[in-house]
Amino acid sequence: MGPSASLESDIRRVGTALFEAFPSHRGNPLKALDDRAMDLAAQDAELRAALFRFVDVVPACRSLDDLAAHLTSFLGEIDEQPPSLRAAMRMGDTKAGRAALGAAGAAGVRHMAHRFIVGEDPQAALPVLRRLWRDGIAASVDLLGEATVTAQEADRYAARCAGALETLAGAYAQMDAQPLLERDASGPLPRANLSVKVSALTPLLRPEAPARGQRDAAPRLRALLRQAKELGAHLHIDMESLDSREAVLELVLNLLAEPEFADGPSAGVVLQAYLRDSPQTLDTILASAQQTRRAQPLVVRLVKGAYWDHEVVEARQHGWSVPVFERKADCDANFEALTARLLEARPLLRVAIASHNLRSVAHAIARNELLGGAPGDVEFQVLRGLGDDLGQALAASGLRVRSYCPVGDLVAGMAYLVRRLLENTANESFLADQAQGVPVAQLLAAPEASLS
Ligand SMILES: Cc1cc2nc3c(=O)[nH]c(=O)nc-3n(C[C@H](O)[C@H](O)[C@H](O)COP(=O)(O)OP(=O)(O)OC[C@H]3O[C@@H](n4cnc5c(N)ncnc54)[C@H](O)[C@@H]3O)c2cc1C
Repeated sequence: MGPSASLESDIRRVGTALFEAFPSHRGNPLKALDDRAMDLAAQDAELRAALFRFVDVVPACRSLDDLAAHLTSFLGEIDEQPPSLRAAMRMGDTKAGRAALGAAGAAGVRHMAHRFIVGEDPQAALPVLRRLWRDGIAASVDLLGEATVTAQEADRYAARCAGALETLAGAYAQMDAQPLLERDASGPLPRANLSVKVSALTPLLRPEAPARGQRDAAPRLRALLRQAKELGAHLHIDMESLDSREAVLELVLNLLAEPEFADGPSAGVVLQAYLRDSPQTLDTILASAQQTRRAQPLVVRLVKGAYWDHEVVEARQHGWSVPVFERKADCDANFEALTARLLEARPLLRVAIASHNLRSVAHAIARNELLGGAPGDVEFQVLRGLGDDLGQALAASGLRVRSYCPVGDLVAGMAYLVRRLLENTANESFLADQAQGVPVAQLLAAPEASLS
């Protein structure tokens, strides 16, 4: 058997074992999560659009009556309504019915949000974080609150991040040892881990003037890096849409190259495999890591990318060439090629594979084995609420897992919630395929082969 045939058979072995290890992969994970709205939305594009618009207005509604009016008006635009929807619409004819409908809508949105958001603030999130740690799962906390339009908002976000670092470092110091989560071949791994967004650290991050945004964000990010170093915490910088990628990456790599950060903190960036030029971005990251040789290797979180629809629409509107792959199989194949390059680049980098796609995850596990890496020498990351079962199954298999845990209030969380809904119900999503009962052999097929 040649190397690629044996890799494929390893992927099938690893993937099938994982598939067997968690119940919702055998059934319909969206149904199993008792989320009727997502299930329905996945089947009907019009309903999906109506529900997204509804989710968007919930925080602005002042009464249940108001909420029900919005709900019935959005749903009223759907041509072919399923019977359950027709019954709901009839409720909107009376005041009592509207109140009941509004309450049900608000409860549904809150229920959905609580699946993804672990607490209103870091303190409130601690019970969930402690439970995860006890189950052998680390976390990265993300403070919700996306659009920063004033300097005061940027200062407030930076202060919330500083508070979160304190709270997390204090709480994790009290937790019991979890050897797999605390050390890999490159040395100790911080327990406390915070993910931050540069767009929330400055109101000036604009594609037409990247240096201005970088200059404005730098002092706030530098202060957080200093604090993370003092507390022995990890700071991860999320990646957003393409129009800020260059500015964010350059800012982070330049700050980390400053002499005061040569021996800490542990820090990380994100590489988005849906971008056609992501292999060149990895070249830039590798060159920087090679040059700076920091004591703690840079963590690279590999994702496919959360802004696919946005990037396609934006490019088409401007008549630009589309920067993301337009065939899902191309994106998946690129994810695997980048996984291989990242794993081979160790110990210069640390690698985190962030995906809920069984094939992408099984490929990384098999590739790591093929390269002789120990199970703990690659991290697997899942999103709270979407990848919980996968995370548990990976942890139970002796792998190193981190759950990305958003913290914040519902209003601030809306943009996040809508992105997760879009991802969950997109036509070309692994979770949607699973939900439709696609057989495991097909779920585990190599990206190109799945097209034929
Ligand atoms: C822990 C964690 C942290 C994350 N942090 C970030 C972050 O900082 N920045 C960020 O952008 N995302 C981030 N993500 C989100 C991540 O990008 C999405 O979860 C991911 O895109 C879904 O991929 P998947 O492998 O789980 O699922 P899959 O179903 O295999 O892939 C879905 C993805 O494929 C891509 N896609 C869909 N249709 C097409 C098509 N027609 N052609 C080409 N590509 C297509 C899109 O990227 C879509 O999201 C994070 C995810 C996790 C788990």
